Amino acid sequence: MAHVVIIGAGPVGLVTSILLAADGHRATVLDRDPTAARTVEAAIGGDWRRPGVKQFGHTHILMPAGYRLLDKELPGAVDRIREAGGYTYSMLSGAWKVPGADPGQAGDERFETITARRPVLEAALFATAAETPGVRILGGTKVVSLFVGEARTSGRPHIAGVVTDSGARIEADLVVDASGRRTDVPELLAQVGGAPEVIREEAGFRYYTRYFRADERGVPAPRTWPLTHHNSISVITAPGDGDTWSTTLVTSDRDQELRPLSRVDVWNRVLALYPHAAHWNEGVPLTDVHVMGGTHNTLRCLVAGEQPAVTGILAIGDARMTTNPQFGMGMTTGLRHAVRLRDALRLLGTDDAVELALHVDRGIDAESGPGWADDTAWARHRTAEIDAEMRGERYATDDPAWALRTAVEAVFLKDPEILRAWGDVGSMLATADAAFVETGLVERVIQLGAEAPRYPEPGPDRAELLTAVRDGEPGPHRGRLLVATRDGE
Ligand SMILES: Cc1cc2nc3c(=O)[nH]c(=O)nc-3n(C[C@H](O)[C@H](O)[C@H](O)COP(=O)(O)OP(=O)(O)OC[C@H]3O[C@@H](n4cnc5c(N)ncnc54)[C@H](O)[C@@H]3O)c2cc1C
Repeated sequence: MAHVVIIGAGPVGLVTSILLAADGHRATVLDRDPTAARTVEAAIGGDWRRPGVKQFGHTHILMPAGYRLLDKELPGAVDRIREAGGYTYSMLSGAWKVPGADPGQAGDERFETITARRPVLEAALFATAAETPGVRILGGTKVVSLFVGEARTSGRPHIAGVVTDSGARIEADLVVDASGRRTDVPELLAQVGGAPEVIREEAGFRYYTRYFRADERGVPAPRTWPLTHHNSISVITAPGDGDTWSTTLVTSDRDQELRPLSRVDVWNRVLALYPHAAHWNEGVPLTDVHVMGGTHNTLRCLVAGEQPAVTGILAIGDARMTTNPQFGMGMTTGLRHAVRLRDALRLLGTDDAVELALHVDRGIDAESGPGWADDTAWARHRTAEIDAEMRGERYATDDPAWALRTAVEAVFLKDPEILRAWGDVGSMLATADAAFVETGLVERVIQLGAEAPRYPEPGPDRAELLTAVRDGEPGPHRGRLLVATRDGE
């Protein structure tokens, strides 16, 4: 059995360690952030800071596909999330106003996931890993370099272990980079002659998130899919553990005029302009506005072309594949990588390092690559669309994939079959091709979408939005929100 050193005790590193230990491997997990105070209680209380993970304070939804995978592989971890206040939640629970819909049909449980704020979910995984025999977690331990062992094949370095910031050398049969979207492993690999190919797109968004706890009015009822797009802004609403939830306003990183959203008063005024979401700040605020910009879509390929650039190390999770956060793909994608790595070790062990690298990397590419490419194309279009809206123009492109996507967004609340197909794609249970093209639904989407507005949910135009940002003067939509009730339409 192998000794595997995992860089990063985020969700993906933790799940990997538990899966590998269950197979009899020894897993040493290193994280630059301290781990002593990582308890579920601290996470529930909101007392846990994670400088190593910038998105820690932002909305996280584990997609139903990720939930199913976690429940199948690590039911004990799911139990812990439930004990911490996580509960079963259907992604379609706000969408059953569709004419002719028959909610609760056999199979609809596939749209369910488990809710929890990111710290709570991670703390539950941490607690599970910490008590797993064969897993050792070293917090406050940063990996600062990699050392090379005897080359297994000519022409490329073979990583034989890591060096930490305290100078400790830790040998490994395999090193796993699970150090997240800001991984510095590519630079460390470059120092030993094994730089991966990095493909990065700066289709950047900016997140403005607040957390709340329910008062006597309870957790807000969803009125549509958790993510809605509007003129130059998007809104995400997500229940958390217990009676908490988060609400996020997403802008383009380039949109300087909306930067005042970092102020609570501006954030509140702007949320109030969206009738379907306005009630998602009716509770006790747990935070001011958390802001994170600079998101990007990045691939880091340790296998370039036909051969690995380096052996003895594999990259998974965000360190391998960073996606645009709006569709909540990151954790599910990373969990899939973790299972693939576990399965590859079962099949191949660590002796043939080249074969192992090829097998894992090609598997990741085949399974998650198309989703990454679609997501990257979407992010490119969406930022271009926001650029156009900032100029007061309507975005036009002849890309049929964008046309189909926006048509589906415009009509998914009009037809139960389209709703479920959309639910499958959004829950990461099916690709758009499988859900729409192979089922013959595209024509119906185009037919229904012909007259549909770009944005199905009401909201302000750009001028009204900027008015609310600048001085809070009521715009035309403000009257509407005053009559929007908590549970009504
Ligand atoms: C704003 C935002 C919202 C998101 N929302 C969602 C969502 O709704 N659903 C979803 O599934 N995903 C979401 N994501 C993506 C999700 O956060 C990531 O996919 C997830 O964190 C990846 O987990 P990971 O374990 O690969 O990396 P991380 O969670 O980033 O963990 C990496 C760990 O590595 C450690 N580390 C880094 N470098 C070193 C080093 N040199 N030595 C030792 N330790 C190191 C860090 O301290 C950290 O603990 C969102 C992302 C963003 C930016």
